[in-house]
Amino acid sequence: MSKFTVSKQAARVLNFVGGKRISLATNNNTFKVYEPRSGEVLTEVEAARRSDVETALQAAHKAQTHWASIPPPERGVVLRRAAELIRENVDDISYWEVIDNGKPIEEAKADVLSCAETFDYFSAVDLNGEHIPLSDADKRLAYTRREPLGVVGAIGAWNYPIQTATWKIAPAIACGNAIIYKPSPLTPVTAVILAELLQSAGVPDGLVNVLQGGGLTGGSICQARGINKVTFTGSVSTGKLIAQGAAADYVKPVTLELGGKSSCIIFEDCDIDMAVSGAMMANFYSQGQVCSNASKVLVHRSILEPFTKSLIEHTAKMPIGDPLNPKTRIGATVSAEHLAKVNGFTASAVAEGAKLLHGGQKASVPDFPNGYYLEPAVLTGITPKMTVYGEEIFGAVLLIIPFDTDDEALGIANDTCFGLAAGIFTNNLARAHTFINKLHAGNVYVNTYNDVSPAVPFGGYGQSGYGRENGKAAVEHYSQIKSVFINASGKLDNPF
Ligand code: NAD
Repeated sequence: MSKFTVSKQAARVLNFVGGKRISLATNNNTFKVYEPRSGEVLTEVEAARRSDVETALQAAHKAQTHWASIPPPERGVVLRRAAELIRENVDDISYWEVIDNGKPIEEAKADVLSCAETFDYFSAVDLNGEHIPLSDADKRLAYTRREPLGVVGAIGAWNYPIQTATWKIAPAIACGNAIIYKPSPLTPVTAVILAELLQSAGVPDGLVNVLQGGGLTGGSICQARGINKVTFTGSVSTGKLIAQGAAADYVKPVTLELGGKSSCIIFEDCDIDMAVSGAMMANFYSQGQVCSNASKVLVHRSILEPFTKSLIEHTAKMPIGDPLNPKTRIGATVSAEHLAKVNGFTASAVAEGAKLLHGGQKASVPDFPNGYYLEPAVLTGITPKMTVYGEEIFGAVLLIIPFDTDDEALGIANDTCFGLAAGIFTNNLARAHTFINKLHAGNVYVNTYNDVSPAVPFGGYGQSGYGRENGKAAVEHYSQIKSVFINASGKLDNPF
């Protein structure tokens, strides 16, 4: 295994094709990337065009044919080396994740280490087919082979940049595919570091490519003929375009990991300290920019007062500031536009009659007057007609909604077209099981929130998308099954 170090110039030349960073020679089409921590320009990036997608596809096809011929256990060795290299370089990779995204360094380290776990998990995932006995007497049998799809086109969001890239790249290459990954134009850096690291771990040139750009680049990847599968993480509106684009010319299988509007239900029989921790975990990680966040925190009226008091005390104590400071718990929002959008939700709720109990103002952080810092907000007095009740906020805005009965809580939680996640805090086992069964969500958390594991499938119901990432379920989405019938009897009757 070659030694890997993260380049000090990690944010320069960010298209990665055929095993190296490349300049897109004749392209004047660039976009600026801002560092959320300071608001300064971090870098300027060349956006890939359709012809660049074609170039990446040629490299990817060549690499994929070779890679798919390597036995899965040998491919697994390369994935495990990648996991080792990620662990060895966790500090440097996390540094760039913070510079790119603005999240607190301790969270970035957890994200990066989770990527190592993901590569480890997929290094040994079960790719076996089935043996299906038909008739011993007639010497007939059938079996299935699990085969790669070819080249995967992958498009990611900005809130978990390296984890989103990993959740697509690890299962795709474990199953024998090549991949062209397009990160969000807001966070273009760490996917390229990951591609370089995979190269050092032993993936062949061209197996993992990173192309930069926005919607036009993403559209070109979805629609390109040589792309055999599309996997997307982002908003519902873009997800619809992706699904259309992926079927425009050639029909391609699609995985869509989309937005959400989740609830966390706090019952009167819960442990209030745990429930406060859970509500904060469900709203304030990554400045609230988490797809499965439960902005609707439903609280049984009998414990509303102690719950709210404790929640606000704890929220007020969270240090907001430089995300590179290990003590920081609330870092910078990803962009000035997104900060304005999140604050706009708080303002609209207040204008519609909600009460702001805490935060919701731009936070000033010494040394970074132009950084994108926002205090987490806690609102109450929410009604179903308010914009914040129905729409995904994707920021640290927690809505406290009281309820009286279990049916009422279930009704509010399921009153959404999304279905990504839901949480419950209760010590009543029967109640927990009733809600697990009745909640319309792809992920349910009991006395916890936002847990993830590479071994556990993640994905949504309803408008939150389809397909699953992680776990054995992901293998279904990155491979195809060939069914084989065998006649070993030596004779075949002619039916005509
Ligand atoms: P977005 O939809 O604006 O962009 C996502 C990606 O799609 C970006 O890379 C963007 O450049 C690209 N894109 C934009 N237009 C495109 C087009 N026409 N064709 C192809 N690609 C195109 O979303 P975002 O603002 O980056 O991310 C926030 C959204 O992502 C939220 O709704 C959030 O809930 C969701 N999200 C979902 C999950 C999940 O696992 N379900 C995880 C993270 C984020």
